[in-house]
Amino acid sequence: MIEVTNLTKTYGKGHNLFVALSDVSFTIPDGKTAAIIGKSGSGKSTLLHLLGGLDHATNGHIVINGQDLTTMKRKAMDHFRAEQLGFVFQSFFVEANQTCYQNVALPLEITQVPLRSRRALVEAALEKVDLTDKITAKAGSLSGGQKQRLALARAIVNKPSLILADEPTGNLDSITGERIVDLLFEQQRQQDSALIIVTHDADLAARCDMQIRIRDGKIEEVIGSQVRPAVNQPVLSPKRIARNRKA
Ligand code: ADP
Ligand code: MG
Repeated sequence: MIEVTNLTKTYGKGHNLFVALSDVSFTIPDGKTAAIIGKSGSGKSTLLHLLGGLDHATNGHIVINGQDLTTMKRKAMDHFRAEQLGFVFQSFFVEANQTCYQNVALPLEITQVPLRSRRALVEAALEKVDLTDKITAKAGSLSGGQKQRLALARAIVNKPSLILADEPTGNLDSITGERIVDLLFEQQRQQDSALIIVTHDADLAARCDMQIRIRDGKIEEVIGSQVRPAVNQPVLSPKRIARNRKA
């Protein structure tokens, strides 16, 4: 379960103060998929970074599986991230000078998975993304689509309870993009993990159980929420939900 309550993020100070997220609240049940949608600059990536514990919230709380990220110490956060989260971010790219094996093994290293277990986990993850034959290749030698698949292998190797993806199809051709998305959903189903995807793609958003629409740092609406709406969240009638799903 992911519970976000009154989350606020500001950048800068004084007259440079910029409110990137304002009083954002929502809940995502275990094993569900959610799309975060909204115009460029609306705060989607900021929200995803906060959910991944990669940045500090100015206010509010993020509770994932009972643990509050906003009060966690740095070391505990690093461990939590490597153990429970999987990232598919453009900015979070693979280490070009390291082999595919080394790239994928990183989260296992951080959580100190015994060496003898690592190999099998890395091989299984690379097999899932069709990169078995690249295990000893340097990540820098891969094509764009292969790099994205490698990033996906690294995101799933620790069997995370939550996968965070920021425009995972962004720089990819449509075939490769579809393959990445299918892999994300397949992984989500198999591991019963939650999946949060930032996307511009309406079809992709419609494939998710929930759609969270952000505008100017505020929640505009949450569609498909199956639990009590968090504070300040518009409640939609079933009719409206059906209409939105079609749209
Ligand atoms: P999105 O992912 O929806 O396109 P972002 O979350 O990246 O939007 O950014 C939301 C707003 O916050 C933008 O106006 C952006 O310029 C601003 N912003 C993001 N990061 C920073 C930062 N480090 N310092 C100042 N402003 C930032
Ligand atoms: Mg963004």
